[in-house]
Amino acid sequence: MNSNETLQRLSWTASCPLCGQPNQCAIALGKPPESCWCMTTPMSMLALALMPEQERGQRCICPSCAQGIAPATRP
Ligand SMILES: [Zn+2]
Repeated sequence: MNSNETLQRLSWTASCPLCGQPNQCAIALGKPPESCWCMTTPMSMLALALMPEQERGQRCICPSCAQGIAPATRP
């Protein structure tokens, strides 16, 4: 049984690689990509640059990171 692994992978894709918070990605939630917040929120180039290369296209970042609020600089 791999249901635990599937669940783990699901929460992995649904969390932000930068801060670990839920990324609210429509695709990760099984919704149409067009309904994702990233279609309406401008994505910070800095946030994209901070994203691990191997995780690009695998995980989405969260709305606050996308707006350039770098979690590493927060207390
Ligand atoms: Zn984030």
